[in-house]
Amino acid sequence: MKKDIPIEVKRHSLAHIMAAAILKLYPKAKFGVGPIIDNGFYYDVELSKKLVPDDLKKIEKEMIKLINQKLPFELEELPLKKAVELFTEYKQEYKVELLNDLKQKGTTGISEEESQDLDPKKKDKVTIYKTGDFMDLCRGPHVESTEQLQNCAFSLDRIAGAYWRGDEKNKQLTRIYGLAFDSKKLLQEHKHNLELAKERDHRKIGKELDLFHISAEVGSGLPLWTPKGTIIRRELEKFLTELQEKDGYEEVITPHIGKIELYKTSGHWQNYRENIYSPIKIDGEEFVLRPMNCPHHIHIYSSQMRSYRQLPVRLVEYGTVYRYEQSGELSGLVRVRGFTIDDAHIFCRPDQIMEEFSKVIELIKTVFSTIKFKDFEARIGLRDPKSSKYVGSDELWEKAEKEIEEVVKSKKVKYIKEEGEAAFYGPKLDFVVKDVLNREWQLGTIQVDYNLPERFKLEYKGADDKTHRPVMIHRAPFGSMERFVGIMIEHFGGAFPTWLSPVQVYIIPVGKDHFKHSEELGKLLKSEGVRSEVDLNRETVGYKIRKAEKLKVPYMLVIGDKEIKEKILTVRSRGSNAVKKMEQEEFIKKIQKEIKERK
Ligand SMILES: [Zn+2]
Ligand SMILES: [Zn+2]
Repeated sequence: MKKDIPIEVKRHSLAHIMAAAILKLYPKAKFGVGPIIDNGFYYDVELSKKLVPDDLKKIEKEMIKLINQKLPFELEELPLKKAVELFTEYKQEYKVELLNDLKQKGTTGISEEESQDLDPKKKDKVTIYKTGDFMDLCRGPHVESTEQLQNCAFSLDRIAGAYWRGDEKNKQLTRIYGLAFDSKKLLQEHKHNLELAKERDHRKIGKELDLFHISAEVGSGLPLWTPKGTIIRRELEKFLTELQEKDGYEEVITPHIGKIELYKTSGHWQNYRENIYSPIKIDGEEFVLRPMNCPHHIHIYSSQMRSYRQLPVRLVEYGTVYRYEQSGELSGLVRVRGFTIDDAHIFCRPDQIMEEFSKVIELIKTVFSTIKFKDFEARIGLRDPKSSKYVGSDELWEKAEKEIEEVVKSKKVKYIKEEGEAAFYGPKLDFVVKDVLNREWQLGTIQVDYNLPERFKLEYKGADDKTHRPVMIHRAPFGSMERFVGIMIEHFGGAFPTWLSPVQVYIIPVGKDHFKHSEELGKLLKSEGVRSEVDLNRETVGYKIRKAEKLKVPYMLVIGDKEIKEKILTVRSRGSNAVKKMEQEEFIKKIQKEIKERK
């Protein structure tokens, strides 16, 4: 028996076994697709009954039975026509639809992982795998026998509705999700992390801490930032703006719409149309909500003749863009229809790319270390050497790819190279961070672009007095402000460091007699640049402390007779029961330092 079968192969094989088990229990089940996903797999099934959690237990039991029968995964290669006949006979109409697509278009066209393409070498032949009574249209690979799944720890963890092919016009199928790991211990660990993640869900915390609001009347995917959420966002923007000023960026402001021609010139209209909202007619001309900020910045660059001495020109904007997302995909702040990018475009000479990259990497490193993302890695997206879809000369590409790697190395950043992951217009560098729950998030991206300068005919005057074409670099350390804040809420579980906390100090007067002094203290803190809230409700001190704990406020000050008479503060820190007596001035100095240093 083979050793070390990749977990992905086991997960994929388990998807087949789950389908086989479902077929045993519900012989009329019709199957859509069943790909692997992070940590497990799913299968979309049409069933005549609505499943309840108890049914998942039954399916699990049936799966274990099948696995213990040590069934082989049998491969069969069939002509496409035969396969259509076979699946028609079995009344699996979704599979028949996929096969017909395969016949007409050469691909089943579902997302990358699930899609089966016709292999040109095997003309018109498709592969089918059989396990027990279940057969599936599939490319493999699988385990050879279910015996190899006996040590695998799995559990079916949830049920969801999913439209066939992700299209709301189609029938809704039941999606059954399974988790699978190499050992019980890993599965348990993952389940534990899922529980923690639920508690940290930014949608839940966002509501509890009143950070943002999504209203059906305004529209889904269009988050409204409340005063408290806005504080977090502005603090992040201030932080980044300070770093950018040191690096020679110039801030610009541009409108949220632009003529459709802009996006025809940039190519977004042709290549990206499904994400752009329908045009708006104004005085006979067509405008769109911008899906990108680049064309607006390009027109600021080209509004004057630039000399080689002026370069690089670094234009930056917290620029809001609008992109269509399916309603089923929308989620809190993380998947939205309108969002703001901390978007900069650097226009430079080819010989400046390396230095600019190096500066941007340094900036992103500073951002991550301040935010306390300790574990991150860079992914360099390179060309696929076999493809011809790329614009720009081979020479330029080779140079840029080599330089990027050199810079990353010199910055001592952990990195991997990914062939075929470059944009068609240039190589890129993405940063992937791990949060406290070990989840990976792609944040921060830098992309070289040879294409837009060409399409918009950008120029600069060189030392030789001739005109040359600049290179553009797109970069966004946070990416989307919405998504970034969403991730931060989960990363900190709502307990933000003091500089980011919407309320930094919670003032708790013991009784009515202490209200006036507490309010004055609040005003004093405000004048010293510290955000505070005074709790003037008639509740017990204990109750108010619990409230402040729930709001995750970093500091609480309890104000009673003694505090007023002796002019001292009783300070309680978040997550600790200990109290500390401090002079007012001492406390203010301490918290000011903490805020200033973003500790
Ligand atoms: Zn398969
Ligand atoms: Zn851009």
